[in-house]
Amino acid sequence: MKEADLVVSFLTRDQGRLRGVAKRARRPKGGFGAGLERLSHVRMAYFQRETRELVNLDSCELIRSQFDLASDYWASVALDYFAEVSEQMLPAAEANERFFRLLLTVLECLRPAGGAQDAGRVWRAVTYFSLWAVRLSGWLPELHACLGCGSVLDDAGPDGAPERAFFSRGRAGLLCSHCRRMPGAGNTWELSAESRSIAVEMLQKPVSGLSVNAWGQSTGADLRRFLVQQIEEHVERRLLTAPILEAVA
Ligand SMILES: [Zn+2]
Repeated sequence: MKEADLVVSFLTRDQGRLRGVAKRARRPKGGFGAGLERLSHVRMAYFQRETRELVNLDSCELIRSQFDLASDYWASVALDYFAEVSEQMLPAAEANERFFRLLLTVLECLRPAGGAQDAGRVWRAVTYFSLWAVRLSGWLPELHACLGCGSVLDDAGPDGAPERAFFSRGRAGLLCSHCRRMPGAGNTWELSAESRSIAVEMLQKPVSGLSVNAWGQSTGADLRRFLVQQIEEHVERRLLTAPILEAVA
């Protein structure tokens, strides 16, 4: 490869995540333009040889760039997060059309609807993406039962409040307040009843139909921590973008 060439990771609707070489892409008139920018939605022309891991990129035609989000710090961090999670989670060359559509959906969510200021849209989009990325990969554990004793976590306790639920790194599921005190449970964090109901709703409704409208960084933060831990457990490494996203604004 030459210095002006670029190795690009890209997600296709029909063949999953691929890697290719874009010849002369670093040159000013390389012909790829903004098409190779992070999470640009493009129509890509490429050539696949059976014997090579890398495909050859011929050209790409821009459908939508994310350039208009670059000036919004949190939206920009969210883009980094979407790209990192997709790169780490998706196996190479395995079609996953639903994941492709998930990305299109959350990219749309990052844009303020009708020009209205909606600062919470980033957190809504990131939470929705995290939940569905884990779900589509088949890694989403049972959210309604304790992993230790099997008790139902939605049931109201003696005080009328729902049973509390806790999670910990390396455990694929939730624990009730009794089981979290058992030896070996390790450090645990609480997954609030509010966040559990957000998760249930997100699995049933499109992101535009969610009942919680006033989102902030703290909304669903425990749910995102839980989901990030599930992702990190499966990809066997820490996500670089996750702590940036959860740093206090
Ligand atoms: Zn239990």
